[in-house]
Amino acid sequence: MLPIRLLGVCLLSLFSYQALAQETYIFCGKLIDGKSDKVRNEVTLIVDGNRLKEIKNGFVDAPDSVKVVDLSSNTVMPGLMDMHVHLEMEFNKAAYLNRYTKNEADIAFFSVVNAEKTLMAGFTTVRDLGGTGVNTSLRKAIDGGLVKGPRVFSAGKSIATTGGHADPTNGAKAALMGDPGPKEGVINGADEARKAVRQRYKNGADVIKITATGGVLSVAKSSKAPQFNMEELKAIVEVANDYEMVTAAHAHGTEGMRRAVDAGINSIEHGTYMTDEVMELMKEKGTYYVPTITAGKEVTNKGKIMGFYPKIVVPKALEIGPKIQDTFSRAYKRGVKIAFGTDAGVFPHGLNGKEFGYMVEAGMPAMETIKSATMGAASLLRIEDELGSIEEGKLADIVAVEGDPLEDISVMENIVFVMKDGEIYKKPQFVE
Ligand SMILES: [Zn+2]
Repeated sequence: MLPIRLLGVCLLSLFSYQALAQETYIFCGKLIDGKSDKVRNEVTLIVDGNRLKEIKNGFVDAPDSVKVVDLSSNTVMPGLMDMHVHLEMEFNKAAYLNRYTKNEADIAFFSVVNAEKTLMAGFTTVRDLGGTGVNTSLRKAIDGGLVKGPRVFSAGKSIATTGGHADPTNGAKAALMGDPGPKEGVINGADEARKAVRQRYKNGADVIKITATGGVLSVAKSSKAPQFNMEELKAIVEVANDYEMVTAAHAHGTEGMRRAVDAGINSIEHGTYMTDEVMELMKEKGTYYVPTITAGKEVTNKGKIMGFYPKIVVPKALEIGPKIQDTFSRAYKRGVKIAFGTDAGVFPHGLNGKEFGYMVEAGMPAMETIKSATMGAASLLRIEDELGSIEEGKLADIVAVEGDPLEDISVMENIVFVMKDGEIYKKPQFVE
């Protein structure tokens, strides 16, 4: 299903670009292509419409008819991908009241702002792992060229069990609790699990997100308890596979994580209490790990501020938050496949690039961190034929930084050039 949607977008763009019929030459001081471990020096990228037509050595002579982007003092790389964001929300003290005070239109306007911040931070593709369904409408608005934002692969509303992380009425008074079901993303039993996935497909979601264990920020006691049984997990994965929807499982506790991997989920999010045994199982099954270290740091910091989170959340934040970076370090060293993801929304949107520094700090070489946010993420989303690297024939999603991220990874927090689908959204001041 994903490639079909991509194709739709491409065809549309192709027609509009044909009218413009202008090639763009990008002079790259350094080029990290997302695939190779080698950095290339002095390269020209020729973009035609929304695709990369040619890569040439040196800065080639540009005919008058073409547009030239001079990034000869920059490092150029593929558009970055964040596999775990929540564009509809951003945590603050008042966030727990939002569900009672915000209309969908309020959420929609807010998500538009967050989408633009994310794109300007160099993230040209994101996976939105849970909101109200506005995230799917946002995707349509971006695809249709109505608002600026990354390519969104939306999960719509996450799937939980009754009282589980992402049950939308957790913590409410009885009169407001109601009894949410598969339509609202709350399931009990395999049949409801199947219905919830099919409902999401019908709603236009691209991917499926489940909450395999408790979570930090929900108004509930446990962050570790497994929340689905094997039968439910297998049903979810089986139906999602039928619809070619990539699956992601939020998981902190070991048992819930083990079950999700065993059932064939495509990625584990956060993965806090990931044991060596679970890592081996992930390697065997080809499961990706999406670490979200930045979110771990954020909940640790905010958990220390009195009254920032509800009382029931604080001990969970202080226990889970500090552990994620260490888990990532162990998983990377053990050879688990890593796809870049931050959980932006738990911290302010647009700061996604901080994750690179935390990954390097934990022992992953800078080049590997960039690959996890390009080809690694593209492979998880099964769009590696079209995106994830700078290669002739692929879609032109291209970003650049000042300086060299292999020497100073913090430059990833300051993206100076953004091209998505052949269109320039951000450029350094010296570029015309
Ligand atoms: Zn999340």
